[in-house]
Amino acid sequence: MAQPPPDVEGDDCLPAYRHLFCPDLLRDKVAFITGGGSGIGFRIAEIFMRHGCHTAARKLAGATGRRCLPLSMDVRAPPAVMAAVDQALKEFGRIDILINCAAGNFLCPAGALSFNAFKTVMDIDTSGTFNVSRVLYEKFFRDHGGVIVNITATLGNRGQALQVHAGSAKAAVDAMTRHLAVEWGPQNIRVNSLAPGPISGTEGLRRLGGPQASLSTKVTASPLQRLGNKTEIAHSVLYLASPLASYVTGAVLVADGGAWLTFPNGVKGLPDFASFSAKL
Ligand code: NAP
Repeated sequence: MAQPPPDVEGDDCLPAYRHLFCPDLLRDKVAFITGGGSGIGFRIAEIFMRHGCHTAARKLAGATGRRCLPLSMDVRAPPAVMAAVDQALKEFGRIDILINCAAGNFLCPAGALSFNAFKTVMDIDTSGTFNVSRVLYEKFFRDHGGVIVNITATLGNRGQALQVHAGSAKAAVDAMTRHLAVEWGPQNIRVNSLAPGPISGTEGLRRLGGPQASLSTKVTASPLQRLGNKTEIAHSVLYLASPLASYVTGAVLVADGGAWLTFPNGVKGLPDFASFSAKL
């Protein structure tokens, strides 16, 4: 079986990946990445910068020689989004790529989920994705074209237990991907979704993986029999954001080692959850 790429970051990344870097792939493009301060979003920023892009993570600038502008905003608040986009445009003069990666999630049975908890996840994942896309459309993409990649999930494909909030929110984002691809294609804006599976070393997996024993059973039941890593997700996003995908729009690319096809998804997992959630 082919070995996965090593899960390394910062300067450690260089020896492992030097042969894969193509510094011209995103040369002098500017990416606006929500949720870029941690986890998968942070690794996307790093991989983009290694391929020539300017993004938003100070500690990566020294390692890559690319410029960056760390910004703090709540994607639920349109005025804050407008201010952040204005600031980025002032700094860079352009934005070519938007990655909507900000999200919130936790495990909870639907019957115990508060109205407010459901709404909060919908607000961050779904409304947040719309807010940032809409602001960037108005402020830059409508007149200059652009690329949007929405980070979603496969939770809604089979109705994953304990995930009605996130599964519904991400399914709505996949629908939004298709709507925006149709409406904004004539302005040369491509819109796609990237749906990761379970990814090692992330907050998402820490919160959603469940007890270690049950996670490893699930993982070995998946076709590639392992977790993915953040670099593998960043490489998939890189493809969609780059000119290599110039004829791809309205698509949902699943990068999960085939996991959603075979992952256990039964009510038998619910008792496990009671003991695991007490430790969160
Ligand atoms: P993560 O590190 O917790 O990333 C989520 C990011 O969203 C954080 O940087 C967080 O910033 C930001 N965020 C949350 N609420 C926000 C808000 N209201 N406004 C602006 N930013 C906000 O988790 P991750 O596991 O890397 O997940 C990254 C993405 O991949 C998410 O979209 C997730 O749904 C998706 N995904 C992950 C997995 C996985 O296995 N990890 C699987 C499928 C899909 P703060 O920390 O500052 O709040």
